[in-house]
Amino acid sequence: MTAEPLGIHHVTAIATDPQANLDFYTRVLGLRLVKKTVNFDDPTTYHLYFGDEKGRPGTILTFFPWPQARRGIRGTGQATVTSFIVPAGSLGFWADRLGQEGVAAEQSGRRFEEEVLTLLDPDGLKLELVAHEQAAALPFWGGGPIPQESASRGFHGTTLTLEGYEATAALLSGPLGLRPAGEEGNRFRFAAASGGPGRFVDLLCTPDARPGRVAAGTVHHVAFRARDEVEQGTVRKALVSAGMNVTPVLDRNYFRSIYFREPGGVLFEVATDPPGFTVDETVDQLGTSLKLPGWLEPHRHGIEAVLPELDLAQ
Ligand code: ZN
Repeated sequence: MTAEPLGIHHVTAIATDPQANLDFYTRVLGLRLVKKTVNFDDPTTYHLYFGDEKGRPGTILTFFPWPQARRGIRGTGQATVTSFIVPAGSLGFWADRLGQEGVAAEQSGRRFEEEVLTLLDPDGLKLELVAHEQAAALPFWGGGPIPQESASRGFHGTTLTLEGYEATAALLSGPLGLRPAGEEGNRFRFAAASGGPGRFVDLLCTPDARPGRVAAGTVHHVAFRARDEVEQGTVRKALVSAGMNVTPVLDRNYFRSIYFREPGGVLFEVATDPPGFTVDETVDQLGTSLKLPGWLEPHRHGIEAVLPELDLAQ
């Protein structure tokens, strides 16, 4: 990296029912649907993006909802927990709210001096809300049901569950430029220097745990930020030098992406901040209509015919 790394760009997970997924992340957790598009590799299914008002990098959780997907297994070689930051003092609000919504949530105590609330989404994806001292100063989505003093400010980070952590640690602190930021038991924390959301990657070393299986209710990949395509090219070179098998740059319409599997088995991506989600609709309009990349636009009629209707009422 030529400059300080910025941390996580987005996390992509697998769901089953798109309407249940949409309802949970917008109505229960209060995120904004910032893009309704299709899986570019499988245009008969949705790709839903949730984030803050503008879908800033570091706030974006995306889903491939495959109604027929089998349930995955949480285990080694996976990003097993996706954590959001919420303002300090708001976990009581969240425990009450999740209880009223019938979502099982559990206070997990303190970790690195921060209180943590753990919950599962409708497909069993494991999430955390982490009460973070600096969260209140960060932007949030004010159009949802959660008051400002409790609303999510984007990601805290991700937890990777690994059989062995050393090779992944070397990759994070080498080509990806993160800094070691503490240890607690078998948890090894790495951090980006930026003060924005999505700074943390925790490696949880569990040599005796079972291997995970990526399917519904699990994370598909974790994407890290690159400021632009030049920085992405620099990171790509460093990854290749470190022995990673990296894809060519792919056009994901809202960012440019490269992918590789890190040594612990988790699929990583490096995605550019530009052009972002306002490339094809205004901030006000984000998420309100089905957006397709230029190469799929000629097939819009057929695509719309097979996608289930979604009720966007938030
Ligand atoms: Zn991605």
